[in-house]
Amino acid sequence: EKARVVVVGGGYGGATAAKYVRMLSNYQIDVTLIEPNGDFVSCPISNLVIGGSKTMADITTPYDKLSGKHGVNIVRDYVASVDPVKKTVTLASGPSIRYDKLVMSPGIDLMFNTIEGLKEANASGQILQAWKGGPETLALRKQLESMDDGGVYAITIPEAPYRCPPGPYERASQVAHYFKQHKPKSKVLILDANQDVTSKGPLFKKFWADNYKGILEYMPQHKVVAVDAKTNTLKFDVQNDVKANVLNVLPAMRAGGIAVQSSLANVNARWCGVHYQTFESTQAKDIHVIGDSIMLAPLMPKSGHMANSHGKVTAAAIVAQLSDMPVNPAPFLSNTCYSFVNDKLVVHVASVHQYDAKDKTYKTVPGSGGVSAAPNELEGIYAWNWAQNIWADSLM
Ligand code: FAD
Repeated sequence: EKARVVVVGGGYGGATAAKYVRMLSNYQIDVTLIEPNGDFVSCPISNLVIGGSKTMADITTPYDKLSGKHGVNIVRDYVASVDPVKKTVTLASGPSIRYDKLVMSPGIDLMFNTIEGLKEANASGQILQAWKGGPETLALRKQLESMDDGGVYAITIPEAPYRCPPGPYERASQVAHYFKQHKPKSKVLILDANQDVTSKGPLFKKFWADNYKGILEYMPQHKVVAVDAKTNTLKFDVQNDVKANVLNVLPAMRAGGIAVQSSLANVNARWCGVHYQTFESTQAKDIHVIGDSIMLAPLMPKSGHMANSHGKVTAAAIVAQLSDMPVNPAPFLSNTCYSFVNDKLVVHVASVHQYDAKDKTYKTVPGSGGVSAAPNELEGIYAWNWAQNIWADSLM
């Protein structure tokens, strides 16, 4: 009987792992990918949909190449539970599927309960996050479109680590760009629980000062503890209340729910510990966890590029293990995060990480990576090409 790999979640990590297990095994290993969504909707580039320069169609890719071209069995369902002893996953619709190796890439869960009133305000559609690929992206765009000129958009940022360190600053920049063009009396507030801008700080802050002065205001060390949906008010642990017309409240995050329920999130009850050479869980044999759900080694961000890198390293390790071949002793991971500060100008941060067998962790390769000197249009072209390349690499 053929070896069988089951993948939970068709995002950046899971889709890549599914495709690469098929390719690296010369299409000999049977791969089943379980994902509830009919299409892949990207978070990278989604801030441009919120800013108005891209559409939902631009960030949506069908899963049909993974099945048609690569022979991945795609099951459109939700994994309800995992049995690591019997080595099965059970689908929400009832049936169970057996695995030899399980890859879990369920992304993040938003911890609504850490902010009083947020769960209800989200359920009613009033206070959105738009921090997962999907309909909230468009819904948030619609809220901005229907806001009167002179209104305020406020985004709140939880303490790091959270999904995509530069993401909230890119989003605020996109909204400021939109206001500058179409609603010039309106304002953007960034209320950040962190000490300072978490990623590419000097670049963002200089651009804001030069281009969004009087529109965008950055306030560090503001930790939201409650929201009042009736009055559209944010409440903080220390500072006075803030009111805004459009609230975009990002709560703390943790590993995707199925990873937490399966007792894989052993680090602070939030993130999944893994053996970094193979991404096998420290909690369960033959279960590999990748992407935003894992506890990352120092200096590694929770990004789609990283999740794609985890997917490839894990696919190679699984194919080696299932074929009794040696596992790569020193795999590499790479990352580039581009951020659009308006509809054309971009800044990036990049890094390369190699597994160190002695210390059992990833270390930044000396001399690798770096950051942009200044926002520029050429990187705007690179950024859009990066997105199309990573969608092709993960899904086609
Ligand atoms: P995801 O891509 O979220 O995939 C998880 C999948 O698992 C989902 O499809 C979900 O439906 C599925 N799933 C969850 N639970 C189950 C279950 N029980 N059963 C079956 N399926 C399940 N990264 C970059 O590299 N560059 C960028 O420019 C960038 N920009 C970003 C901008 C924004 C606004 C945001 C929010 C993020 C951005 N990111 C960026 C980060 C990137 O989106 C994430 O790091 C990446 O999606 C992580 O991949 P993942 O596989 O861990 O999770």
